[in-house]
Amino acid sequence: MSRPLIERTLRRQVERLGNIKVRGGCRVLNIVSESHVHAASGIHYQTADGSLKTLESDLIVDASGNGSLTVEFLKATDRKPPAETSIRVNTRYASALFERAHIWNDYKGVFTFPDAPEESCGGLILPAENDRHQVVLIGRGNDIPPIDGDEFLSYARELPTLTVYNAIKNAKRLTEIFQIGNIVRALGQPFTIVPLSALATAGLLREQQGDESALFNIMRNLGGSVGTAPLRLTD
Ligand SMILES: Cc1cc2nc3c(=O)[nH]c(=O)nc-3n(C[C@H](O)[C@H](O)[C@H](O)COP(=O)(O)OP(=O)(O)OC[C@H]3O[C@@H](n4cnc5c(N)ncnc54)[C@H](O)[C@@H]3O)c2cc1C
Repeated sequence: MSRPLIERTLRRQVERLGNIKVRGGCRVLNIVSESHVHAASGIHYQTADGSLKTLESDLIVDASGNGSLTVEFLKATDRKPPAETSIRVNTRYASALFERAHIWNDYKGVFTFPDAPEESCGGLILPAENDRHQVVLIGRGNDIPPIDGDEFLSYARELPTLTVYNAIKNAKRLTEIFQIGNIVRALGQPFTIVPLSALATAGLLREQQGDESALFNIMRNLGGSVGTAPLRLTD
């Protein structure tokens, strides 16, 4: 199942909850504070038609992704923002959605690993909804997965096995090829996080699973932070 489908389904479920109001098309401009205590007391935001509004709140969760709203709030209230760490990871991948990829032996998914460190090209195929497959080609250093359709296929043909190439050589590509660099976290996550998450929730009562999910994600992120710290030392 693709991420857009999961996100859309979740959004629809949330919109059905009677005590939650979703304000679509709004952009938060900043977190506001009561000047005498410096505590956050609400947000300024802009609606889809451009009007500016304030929403007061006792509790604000900054889920804007990179946390820049919180950092700006800390600066505006004379507090020190948290230290930032940059990690250079020289891995790139290019991905596209294909219709009717024919994976050998009807495997559910494919992961072609390079024989590191000599080799650095890899690829994976994961099933998505409606008989579609997400195909991802990976490279490190000077091996840059291409965004041109023919070159994408040629790159797949040079992988350590032909499984990915054979699966897509006659399949219909449905999207442009999307390329992104310097991301390594995504590699292998579908094969590690999903089974771990399933194991962690197995046997729990339905009403316990909300707490479990929150705990699991916090521990996973903490683990990730600990795991990336040594990477910085090797940079
Ligand atoms: C190309 C790519 C591939 C990835 N692949 C994987 C993967 O395979 N597995 C994995 O686990 N992770 C992957 N990640 C990382 C994953 O997407 C992020 O870790 C995750 O999305 C972070 O979730 P989030 O809710 O914190 O932030 P986001 O998903 O970034 O959500 C933040 C939301 O806040 C909105 N927003 C931002 N600012 C404002 C504002 N001022 N006002 C209103 N709304 C605002 C944004 O529009 C966005 O909708 C990938 C990331 C990228 C970019």
